Amino acid sequence: MTRTHCPYCSLQCGMALERVGRTLEVQAWPEFPVNEGALCRKGWTATGLRGHRERLTTPLLRGADGEFRPADWEEALDHVASRLRSLRTAHGNDAVAVFGGGGLTNEKAYQLGKFARVALGTSQIDYNGRWCMSSAASAGNRVFGVDRGLPFPLADLERADVVVLVGSNLAETMPPAARHLDRLRERGGRVVVLDPRRTPTAERADLFLQPVPGTDLAVALGVLHLLDAADALDDAYLAERVEGFDAVLRSVASWWPERVERVSGVPVAELRALADLLASSPRVMVLTARGAEQHAQGTDTVLAWINIALGLGMVGRDAAGYGCLTGQGNGQGGREHGQKADQLPGYRMIDDPAARAHVAGVWGVEPDTLPGKGRSAYELLDALGTSEGPKAMLVFGSNIVVSAPNATRIGERLDALDLLVVCDLVLSETAARADVVLPVTQWAEETGTMTNLEGRVLLRRQAVAPPDGVRSDLEVLAGLAERLDAPVPFSVDPAEIFAELGRASAGGVADYAGITYERIEAEHGVFWPCPAPAHPGTPRLFADGFPTPSGRARAQVVAHRGPAEPVDDDFPVHLTTGRVLAQYQSGAQTRRIRALPDDGVFVEMHPMLAARIGAVDGAPVVVRTRRGELKAPARVVATVRPDTVFVPFHWVGANRLTHDALDPSSRMPEFKVCAAAVSA
Ligand code: SF4
Repeated sequence: MTRTHCPYCSLQCGMALERVGRTLEVQAWPEFPVNEGALCRKGWTATGLRGHRERLTTPLLRGADGEFRPADWEEALDHVASRLRSLRTAHGNDAVAVFGGGGLTNEKAYQLGKFARVALGTSQIDYNGRWCMSSAASAGNRVFGVDRGLPFPLADLERADVVVLVGSNLAETMPPAARHLDRLRERGGRVVVLDPRRTPTAERADLFLQPVPGTDLAVALGVLHLLDAADALDDAYLAERVEGFDAVLRSVASWWPERVERVSGVPVAELRALADLLASSPRVMVLTARGAEQHAQGTDTVLAWINIALGLGMVGRDAAGYGCLTGQGNGQGGREHGQKADQLPGYRMIDDPAARAHVAGVWGVEPDTLPGKGRSAYELLDALGTSEGPKAMLVFGSNIVVSAPNATRIGERLDALDLLVVCDLVLSETAARADVVLPVTQWAEETGTMTNLEGRVLLRRQAVAPPDGVRSDLEVLAGLAERLDAPVPFSVDPAEIFAELGRASAGGVADYAGITYERIEAEHGVFWPCPAPAHPGTPRLFADGFPTPSGRARAQVVAHRGPAEPVDDDFPVHLTTGRVLAQYQSGAQTRRIRALPDDGVFVEMHPMLAARIGAVDGAPVVVRTRRGELKAPARVVATVRPDTVFVPFHWVGANRLTHDALDPSSRMPEFKVCAAAVSA
């Protein structure tokens, strides 16, 4: 039996894998504290891709006839390296881009960043985690001086008095986490949910607010206004531990509840009920997720909710504070080790001379050979194949064709490349458009670390050998680095890479220097920062101060701007997107697992809207935006706002509709709201 972790979401549930005859069975691992043996149906069926008939086991090269043909690894890697060399010679190092993923292990994310900067010498690297929790990361860095999704263990939820979930449907996206809410309520605590849809999570709530998509920020401004008016803020805490809060209070003075109701649709009585609940509760926890964050004003929305947690004096208090529920499996670790356009390992900024010198020293290269900051994920994709943009791209752990906003446009950009190389398990929609496809190992076939939503570093152990013909992403990188005459060798040993990652992160914000595989296994994970072998790790941050120059949190003034694309006469309905229980991200894996229901894409709408356009439950409707259209069955439910339609994003379609307006700070696209027209 091999103890490991689920291949999917950021909860990283512990599970055991056991070979029974020729099959690999998922079993419970009750001792692992995050999920205590519980798994959702995605976790229980996660081995379904093993031996799948669509599993790729040989490299594929696209021939002159436009068709794929099988190739051996030597030919495929030689071909890729040769094409990369000639494109770099003709157009410079930035002619080659690298696109990573928030599901890659820490070792892969680290090696990918090193490969881009050292072997390719390109600044053009970013990853799909930019579209996950980057707004919360940006906000956390600005206020607290550090970005860790939850600055406390998840189980602390149970001991709070009130948990406010802003744009999180955790009962569907990470079901084992919902038990913490159930235990909280059994203790007499309260759960508050804000969501344009009455989700299964909202069904558990004591107070449910249903704002217009894109107005969570206005709600936060109004709630802080009410708390201030009620003299419910913690003046002593603010004086001692927070900078800039007077300006924040001045900025919310005009956000009377009636104004908030006009903007958000949330009735004044519900706003007052939320403010009263927060004012009377000793331990308040505010948690944001993609519903609040995937907006062009996502960073400001998170900042506004952080201001409430600060104003109440909750941040750093036991079983209270602010946190972000990250999404992808390694949403946290994936953003710490250098696959972001602006970062080096250890959450160091790439334009910091001291950071460059430290990391270059670990890598064995000169600091001035490292490129600078590149383009963010959407901006990178939007530049592909243009006169100024990259001519080739290597993709690891991402299905861009399904997951990018304004996806038709991005598909055209991919097609404009001279060379697209995709590493994947199966022929995903993105791999199907590639010039070269390299078949790589999946989670049960390899060892590596993940950092879950709590900042807990975990170890996935290899349980089975990969199929013949398949290599790990690390072997792909090493093979290409050698062919490109990289100045330093690239290891394929995860443990060796993790030790190097620890040295590169030493002294940084996300310090892994004291973490080893052995400690992770012995301690059920180790929380960063952990700067030395004798250090116990840091489950809870901020109890004694913030890692800012003054040691105080830096409250930020923010203003509500509303959606980048407001509804109008031509596009009168809000479109929002999200997930369903049985599918994960672009669905490249889960749509292929037979034991998981695949109902296909649908359009969820309220009966009032359905009646107005003549839609019938189960019959096709057409959703149009300024970027594209989608025909899919209507799902008529009373749980969504009458002015809003919801489309899940696990299938091709939803992101052909979504808007590509970007948050000015995080560069997060506005996945969660745009203007649409719906017809039967
Ligand atoms: Fe896997 Fe997330 Fe489900 Fe846990 S909640 S089993 S980590 S998908």
